[in-house]
Amino acid sequence: MEPTAAILCVDDEPQVLTLLHRILNGAFAPAVRVIASGSPGEALAQVEALATSGRDLIALVTDERMPGMSGEELIARIRALSPATPAILISAFASTELLGRVMGHSGLFRYIAKPFQPAELIAAVRDAERAFFQQKEFRHLDSLMRQAAGSGATPPEASRILQRQEALLELSLNSSQNFESRLFAILERTADVLAADRTCLLQYSNVSECFECTHLFDAKTGAHHSPRTILYAADHPSYAAAIGRGEIVIAKDVAHDPGALPSIAGLHQPRVTASIDAPVWQNGRLIGVLRGEAFSGPRDWSQEEIYFSMLAAHMIGAAREAEQRHRAEVRLRQAEERYRAIFENAVVGIYQSSMEGRLISCNPAMARLLGFESPAAMKGAVSDIAGEIYADPSRRDELIARLRENQVVVDFESTLRRRDGTILFVSESARLVPDPAGGIAYMEGIIQDITPRVRAARDLKLAKEAAEHANRAKGAFLATVSHEIRTPLNGVIGLLDFLLENGLPANLRAHARLAQESAHTLLATINDVLDFSKIESGRFELAESPVDLHRLVADIMALHAPGAAAKGIGLCATVDPAIPQRVLTDPLRVRQVLQNLIANGIKFTDAGGVSLRLGSRADGKAIVIEGAVEDTGIGIPAEAHDRIFREFEQADKTTSRRFGGTGLGLAICRSLIERLGGAIRVESEPGKGSRFLFHFRARSAPEADAARPPPRSPEPTRPLHILCVEDSPTNQAIARMQLAHMGHSVEIASNGQEAIARLSRANFDAILLDIRMPVMDGIGVARLIRDTGSPVIDHAAYLIAMTADAMEGDRERYLAEGMDDYISKPVAPEALRAALARAAAYADSRPQPPPAPPQAAGSQPATIAIEALWPIFAEEASTLLREMEQAMADGDAARIARAAHTLKGSSGSFGCHRLHRLCDGIEKEAAASHSDALHEWLRQARSEFDHTLIEHTPINPPS
Ligand code: ADP
Repeated sequence: MEPTAAILCVDDEPQVLTLLHRILNGAFAPAVRVIASGSPGEALAQVEALATSGRDLIALVTDERMPGMSGEELIARIRALSPATPAILISAFASTELLGRVMGHSGLFRYIAKPFQPAELIAAVRDAERAFFQQKEFRHLDSLMRQAAGSGATPPEASRILQRQEALLELSLNSSQNFESRLFAILERTADVLAADRTCLLQYSNVSECFECTHLFDAKTGAHHSPRTILYAADHPSYAAAIGRGEIVIAKDVAHDPGALPSIAGLHQPRVTASIDAPVWQNGRLIGVLRGEAFSGPRDWSQEEIYFSMLAAHMIGAAREAEQRHRAEVRLRQAEERYRAIFENAVVGIYQSSMEGRLISCNPAMARLLGFESPAAMKGAVSDIAGEIYADPSRRDELIARLRENQVVVDFESTLRRRDGTILFVSESARLVPDPAGGIAYMEGIIQDITPRVRAARDLKLAKEAAEHANRAKGAFLATVSHEIRTPLNGVIGLLDFLLENGLPANLRAHARLAQESAHTLLATINDVLDFSKIESGRFELAESPVDLHRLVADIMALHAPGAAAKGIGLCATVDPAIPQRVLTDPLRVRQVLQNLIANGIKFTDAGGVSLRLGSRADGKAIVIEGAVEDTGIGIPAEAHDRIFREFEQADKTTSRRFGGTGLGLAICRSLIERLGGAIRVESEPGKGSRFLFHFRARSAPEADAARPPPRSPEPTRPLHILCVEDSPTNQAIARMQLAHMGHSVEIASNGQEAIARLSRANFDAILLDIRMPVMDGIGVARLIRDTGSPVIDHAAYLIAMTADAMEGDRERYLAEGMDDYISKPVAPEALRAALARAAAYADSRPQPPPAPPQAAGSQPATIAIEALWPIFAEEASTLLREMEQAMADGDAARIARAAHTLKGSSGSFGCHRLHRLCDGIEKEAAASHSDALHEWLRQARSEFDHTLIEHTPINPPS
């Protein structure tokens, strides 16, 4: 059946209209029909249709701003057609001024601000419904009265009834929200209608159970009073009981009616003779009594008068309710205005939208954010949020999906497109707003512009990448520079070592020593710089292995003892016996730290000495090694105590400082110690020496490790036949000398191609491969050797990369390229010896390599290289011979044997087999101290060498 009551919603925005309809339908259907009109014209037509079909329009809910007609005007026109219909205005733009106007002129029942809560709307419509039916009742009563007047009543009575009803109607239509003014009107009208001398309101307090006369109208004088007289319910029990039951208490003659309220001194002057008391109710609670009093003797109260009293009392209740509601509304509105101010002035964007993507409302910040001048402009321009606002519409789909899952989404990041096309990074937090029917009414959320933050993060990332790139570039630069420095340094150090070992005249020796020291300092500096850059760039790994710290300290002491002795200072070490024989740590790094501190101690101490102390304590499973290096040297001022641990910092900043150095040593020590899980600091005063205190963490080595003897560096067991592939003539000479010294025979190839050519004709026990070479580099050579399709005979030959590329990871890289071993330049003899020992072990353990084809006659190995290196060899040989002759004269057999051994090695390498044999003989004779035979051997060796020299002279020297 079609409901007889209807609610009409009017809004020109389809999505808002749908929302209103959905909310109200959920709350009022099916008892009430909810009608939606998209325009004021349509709304008026609907109201007319309702009127003709005799249906009640119980509430009108309308938007304020609509094309053609304002909400204000529409309310006025609808109330003209349906006067009892309360109107509710919904607007986002309501000012207090507008509200005052609308309420005054068109009888606005309620105002709701957008964005509104569904519950708020439903409550307003429910109130409207109640008000409507109250009005309707009065009107119905009115018509009944009119009918009664029209039928039987005598004309004067009929006109009195009509007059009373007019008064009633007037009172009921008084929509003033001011309780006092309505109450005064009711008291006056009631006095008039009842022909009473006085009317008053006795307000009831159920807390103190008393009646208080708060408002009194004196009909004779026309004055209003507030006597504030109090009557206790307990003093008038039957009266209070009857009123409490909701009865109207009528006293025709107060003096003889026990149930009536007696005259009260001070209130009733003269005595009250008749009274009528109607209880006033509000929301089911007694709040007072409307009392009519007569003073001119007993009188009757007619039925209409009783009825009127009841209605008037009812109206007082309604007026009180209206006032309270009005107050609540004012408070609510103030709160709303406050919130609206937040909404309007917020710096973040706030919006409400339908799930389908229509914007319902938004604040100015949101509009501004997206490049619109106002929320209205944005609402007018945007019809599909996903497609028009989101740079990637699927982001909004994802947001909705997440909302459906969790109801709330926080900090959802996406990109929005501004009106001018520029892109905005935003963080969005949103929630779903449910409708009463259990569905989703709409969604609302806030949007924050995080573009600056995103930009800053991106800039930071770019800067970080640039810094990383710069760091990598620095790493590459350091690698290159170090390579370029190490290569010639290899030659410098090797040749200086050679010169010093082989009989340089005493005056030149001192110079050569200085040169040698400088070269070693330079090498140490390069190593420091490289080390530091490795640590700093994070390309640095600790290599943990078992170590005997007692022995390590002894080694270091032995190493530095000559230096200390040369300066005339003491050097000693104490290692706590409690330190386990073997601990797990990075021995190389620990050695580096200790050596650095001791070297500094020696460097900065001129008198007294340097001492090292090492102790330990347990920390759970770890062992904490604690140590101190103390000296009696120059000391360090307090201001430099922190600074010296920073890179390139020295205590003495003056240009005239006495001590050299890079200022990197302690920075490296600190980084290493920290990486080892410890710390380092200094205690020192100028002139009083320094104490460097440090600790680091180690672990106890497993039992098995403790039992096993430390690995000894292997010695090659037999002479090897080696191919050295090296483009630098100096380095060729160095390698040749070093290898010859070790008793190996060597062939030289100056580049990769030459190496491959040699390897296609002969086998070698080991191949020393320089990496950076013209024509074909070491890696290319290694690949060709390993390539079974290449002409190389032995594809499994032992390849030793020999390079000045000494950055972290180089070893691994070369091993991955097919090398078997790696040694860095400048080549340390121990490293070379160890690598060759491994090569020998490998040669002994592997199956025989494929046989080499017989050598073609006349093709001497390494001819070109040997010719190129000849002058160096010639120089070396002549020096050694001179040294032997001098030693012979000095009667120093040991020196003769040493020199002969050296010349034996290099002459073998240079293919001077006779000289080689003669030197072998000299070495043996010297050892046996056969001086006569020695003379002869030596003479033959000199003559052999001179011959060889003559043989080689016509050949072009190397360019
Ligand atoms: P370098 O010794 O190469 O300058 P370090 O980083 O090892 O670099 O040392 C930094 C500075 O700390 C030194 O230059 C020196 O001024 C000061 N320093 C280090 N050790 C000592 C010490 N034992 N006595 C006095 N000063 C020292």
